[in-house]
Amino acid sequence: MAQIIDGKAFAEGLRARVATAAVGFEAKTGRKPGLAVVLVGEDPASQVYVRNKGKQTLACGMASFEHKLPADTSEEELLAVVERLNTDPAVDGILVQLPLPSHMNEQKVIATINPDKDVDGFHVVNVGRLATGLPGFVPCTPLGCVMLLKDRLGSLSGLDAVVIGRSNIVGKPMAQLLLAESCTVTVAHSRTRDLPEVVRRADIVVAAVGRPEMVKGDWLKPGATVIDVGINRVPGSEEGKTRLVGDVDFASASEVAGAITPVPGGVGPMTIAVLLRNTIVAAHRNAGLSFDE
Ligand code: NDP
Repeated sequence: MAQIIDGKAFAEGLRARVATAAVGFEAKTGRKPGLAVVLVGEDPASQVYVRNKGKQTLACGMASFEHKLPADTSEEELLAVVERLNTDPAVDGILVQLPLPSHMNEQKVIATINPDKDVDGFHVVNVGRLATGLPGFVPCTPLGCVMLLKDRLGSLSGLDAVVIGRSNIVGKPMAQLLLAESCTVTVAHSRTRDLPEVVRRADIVVAAVGRPEMVKGDWLKPGATVIDVGINRVPGSEEGKTRLVGDVDFASASEVAGAITPVPGGVGPMTIAVLLRNTIVAAHRNAGLSFDE
């Protein structure tokens, strides 16, 4: 049976390190590191994410600034809010919760965020920095996956990695991060031929597809390390109830894999913890201070 990679415990440890760093930052600068989160509209899932981000930011001893704007806010008004946050010295990190209402151009909004406060790592400047190996900000979910992999495996150098999914938020930055760790990286997607055969070559499998339990145990090389990014809500065993599953069929995969992240409790808890980590890094950089992780 595979070992379970406990993302919840790792995320707790990461948040504790962030909290210690926040105390040190405040002692040096006289202010708390600050994260601003902008939410437009009433999307229930986004409201939950924003609430959790705010709570965890405060729990780590950082300042949290929430900007909740109505769904009919104009793009100009939103851009003006982002521009104010760009120049606000109390704000180290800015996150605009996606998706935005359909009358807004997400790319334009993200491009307006100061790249040095873009703790989500979605600005093209940060995408370019990641691709060229310059220090910048890396999207939180894939960075969390790499942290879990390195914690489990140590050096990733020379390992065969297959990333299933090529989104800008998960798959592509995941592939860049694994390349930077000297893995041999294959990026699979909906047009990939014979996906099970491609996955069977991998020492590391990262599934970021959004299809419940798609990756089966008999697709895996025995002993592979499996990172399941997927979060899918499916009908539960009791009528009217639902449950969360990943993109990997945990029951069969855990018979073959060497280690595997569960859903929930694997990658999910890492995302906000890494966001807070990125914010503390931003605070130090923006204040001209060094930061040792
Ligand atoms: P997207 O829908 O943006 O991307 C999905 C990717 O999967 C696409 O590249 C698509 O290929 C590929 N794909 C779809 N079907 C198949 C298939 N049958 N075979 C192979 N590849 C396929 O999703 P995201 O990257 O945003 O998210 C992926 C999953 O991760 C979701 O379940 C999401 O909920 C979860 N997630 C979890 C987070 C967390 O905090 N743990 C954070 C972000 C996402 P193509 O490009 O060809 O269409």
